[in-house]
Amino acid sequence: TSISTPLESDPSVKVVVRIRPTSNNGIGDQTVKKVSSDTLCVGDRQFKFDSVFDSNTSQEDIFQSVGVPLVRNALAGYNTSILSYGQSGSGKTYTMWGPPSAMFEEPSPQSHKGIVPRIFQMLFSELEKEQRTSEGKQFNYQCRCCFLEIYNEEIGDLLDPTQRNLELKDDSKNAPSLENLSEEYVTSYDDVTQILIKGLSSRKVGATTLNSKSSRSHIIFTIVIESWCKGASKNGFSSSKSSRISFIDLAGQDRNKVDGAGRQCLRETKNVKKSLSQLGHVVDALTKETSSGKAEVPNKNSCLTRLLHESLGGNAKLSVICSIYPDNKNNGETLRTLRFGQRVR
Ligand code: ADP
Ligand code: MG
Repeated sequence: TSISTPLESDPSVKVVVRIRPTSNNGIGDQTVKKVSSDTLCVGDRQFKFDSVFDSNTSQEDIFQSVGVPLVRNALAGYNTSILSYGQSGSGKTYTMWGPPSAMFEEPSPQSHKGIVPRIFQMLFSELEKEQRTSEGKQFNYQCRCCFLEIYNEEIGDLLDPTQRNLELKDDSKNAPSLENLSEEYVTSYDDVTQILIKGLSSRKVGATTLNSKSSRSHIIFTIVIESWCKGASKNGFSSSKSSRISFIDLAGQDRNKVDGAGRQCLRETKNVKKSLSQLGHVVDALTKETSSGKAEVPNKNSCLTRLLHESLGGNAKLSVICSIYPDNKNNGETLRTLRFGQRVR
């Protein structure tokens, strides 16, 4: 079958759980336990997902399970996204991008590379292959991307740090747009890596000046892929396809956020909590919509859900990666993360 064959059997929302390694290598903490390929237990409570990955799981395993089907669906024309959800320190960023050394240093430690760079490697290799092998059809493609951060309900452009508070406008057709958000055209893996490094380092600057701001902001990287085939039909009209992939690295789902001086960050906690709970509502409504026809998707309530309008609902496929930090002191957060995962599944 062709690489662009959609995975019909793929559900519109897929939820997997990844348990990160702990400093004592998991020994001494038996509370969170994977019991089968799709089930885990916290104490005597059982939770079932599409897949459960324990602390021995490699970045490549996660890519094979979540990344490969995503690329195939995206090439088949679906809007796809990955949401990384969990408490601070649970491995959301590690799973998405990899540790900073894997993104920023050369030669990078390949084995730690996150799912995002792996997806782009596959995506561009498939697009280039299609272009080489489809001479008669004149296959061509164009990709553009943007990278933004939501902090306290303010949207900042990670590719242009001078743009800190972009205005989110709703047009009549209900597809929100952002004025002045930078868009960069990319045609190769190297291009996209440069953009990722640029965007992630703008975020890093924020993190040092505003003390781990990174755990209190959501970041969204989106790539739009447009491809067309001339002469695909008998009379020479071209056929075209457009789809987008979004990567959403969420703020930590933590009960109390504390700043460097030990003060609680009430406004930030409130905003993060509100947007995560709205997100839960939206994804929840979305799963109901696919099983029983239609439901009102309430996505107008936070910047996060408004921005994800095109990635959630309709002809879209979403993968949620719930990250777990299996330490006894985290049991409350672990249960909250698992409940979010169950709710949206
Ligand atoms: P979050 O983004 O959820 O706050 P991070 O991704 O920053 O968490 O992870 C916290 C720390 O744990 C980082 O130093 C990261 O490299 C490490 N880490 C997380 N998950 C793993 C894993 N599966 N294997 C190795 N190290 C990990
Ligand atoms: Mg993070």
